[in-house]
Amino acid sequence: MKLKWIALLLACTASVAAAQERVDLIVRGGTIYTGSDAPFVGDVAVSGDRIRAVGRRLNYRAARIVDARGMIVAPGFIDPHAHLGEQLASNDARARLIPAFLMQGVTTALIGNDGGGEADVAAVLGRARTHPVGINYAAYVGFGPVRRAVIGEADRAPTPEELARMRRLVATAMCQGALGLSTGLFYAPQSFARTDEVVALAREAASRGGVYDSHLRDESSYSIGLAAAVDEAIAVGREAGLPVNISHIKALGVDVHGQAPAIIARIETARRAGQRVTADQYPWDASGTSLVASLVPRWAQDGGRVALLRRFDDASLAARLRAEMADNLRRRGGPASLLITAGRHRGRRLSEVAGTADPIEAAIAAIREADASVVSFNQTEADIEAFMRQPWVMSGSDASGGHPRAFGSFARLYSEYVAGRRVLTLRAFIERSTALPADTFGLVDRGRLRPGAFADITVFDPRIYAARATYEQPTELATGVRAVFVNGVAAVENGALTGAAPGRGLAHLPRAGSCR
Ligand SMILES: [Zn+2]
Repeated sequence: MKLKWIALLLACTASVAAAQERVDLIVRGGTIYTGSDAPFVGDVAVSGDRIRAVGRRLNYRAARIVDARGMIVAPGFIDPHAHLGEQLASNDARARLIPAFLMQGVTTALIGNDGGGEADVAAVLGRARTHPVGINYAAYVGFGPVRRAVIGEADRAPTPEELARMRRLVATAMCQGALGLSTGLFYAPQSFARTDEVVALAREAASRGGVYDSHLRDESSYSIGLAAAVDEAIAVGREAGLPVNISHIKALGVDVHGQAPAIIARIETARRAGQRVTADQYPWDASGTSLVASLVPRWAQDGGRVALLRRFDDASLAARLRAEMADNLRRRGGPASLLITAGRHRGRRLSEVAGTADPIEAAIAAIREADASVVSFNQTEADIEAFMRQPWVMSGSDASGGHPRAFGSFARLYSEYVAGRRVLTLRAFIERSTALPADTFGLVDRGRLRPGAFADITVFDPRIYAARATYEQPTELATGVRAVFVNGVAAVENGALTGAAPGRGLAHLPRAGSCR
C-alpha cells in the first residue's frame, strides 16, 4: 500500500516537472497548419534546432514567446527549383541570407536544377559551413557540367568509355549527398543527348535513392513537342526506376496553349500505373530565359558561343538560321513578348529595341554583344490554373535574376491564387509548399510541424501576405511575413531580417550499401 502511494507521488512529480519543462521558444496562439493536418489554433514549442511539441495549449516555460495570434503558423516553405547556387556561395554575407526567400517564409531551396548543378556536390554542400547562409539547401548533380566535362559542347553521342566516365561522375555526386540527377534537355549541350544516355545516368541516381528532375526537352513546339517531352521524362523514370519531377510545368507558346488537360492526363496515366511523377510550378505567365535559348536553334549552338557567332556571319547559313529564329519568335508570341532584363537594352521589349527594323536582326545584334536574359510572356491563365489544381503540383520559384519570381512566387501564389481567385485553399497551398516537397525529395524531418522535426517555421499575416515584385520592379521584397525560424533560430522577426544565418547544406543520404 505504502509503495503504491510512493509510486503515485513520483508519477505526479514527474508530470509537474514535464509541465514546467523549459524550452527555448514558444510560438503562441497562431492558426497552425502542420503541413498535412487540418488547421487549429495552438502553440509550437522549440528546443534547440528541433520542434519539441505542437498542440492546442502547451504548458512549458519558454525563454522566448512569439505572439502569433491572428497569424498563420506553418512549416518553412520548401522551393524545389531555385537557381541560387551563386548567391549561396557569394562573398557577400547579406546576399547569402537570401532575403528574397526569407521574406516569403521560404526556409529550404533545392539548387542545381535544369541540369546546372556542379558535379562536386560535397563542395557545394560543404560551403554552408565556411559561408553561412540564411536558408537550408539541397543540391542536384546536373547533367550539363557532367556532359561538358566529358564531351564538351559537341553535338554527338558519347563513346562507351565516355558514358562510363559520366556515370562515375553522377555516382560520385550521389554518394556525396546529391538529391538526384537534374537535366535541362532543352539547353545545349544537354539537348544533344538521346534518351538512352539520360537513362544510363539516371540509373546511377536511382540505385542510390535519388530522384530525376527535368526541365523538359521541349515545353513548346521547338523540337519533339511538349507532349513527347513529358513522355520522355516519364520514360526516364520508368526505365531507370526512380521518381520523376517535371520542373516548372507549363504550356509555353501559342502552338501548345490549351494543352494542359492533355498533359495532365498523360501524367495521371503514369501515376495510376504506379510511377511517382510530380511537378513544380511558378505562378507567373512569363518564363525567364535568355535570348539565345529562346530564339536560336540548337544546331547553331553546336560548339558553343564562338561557333554561334561565326554562324551568324556565314552567308550559306543566313537564310535558314534567320528563318528558324523567326519561327521561334512567332512561337514565343512575337517581339513584344520578350522583355530584355539585362545589359544595354534592359527594361525594353525586343519590339522596342528593333523599332522599325527587323526584330531578328535586332536580336542577333543584341546577342553579338551578350546573351541577355529575357522575360518571355508565353503562358495562358487557363493552362496555369489547370496545372495548379493538380495535387501533385508543388509551389516553386525557378528563382533567377531579372524575373520577379525569386522575390514573389510563394507570396504571389497565396495572394493571387489562394486569397484572390481561390484556385487553391490555404491548406493546399501550405501542403504543396511544405510536406509534399519534403516527401517527394526525401528531405528528412523537414516540411512538417511535428515533434522531433527541425524547427523551420514561418509565421505570416494572411491579411497582408503578398508579392510586391513585378516584371518592371522584380526585386521588391514580399510583405506579410512576421517571423521565420530556420533550424530553431530566428532569421526574421517583427517582419525584418535578423541577420542570422542558420541555414545548412542538406546532404541526401544514399541508399544503404550503394556507396562503397
Ligand atoms: Zn528550367
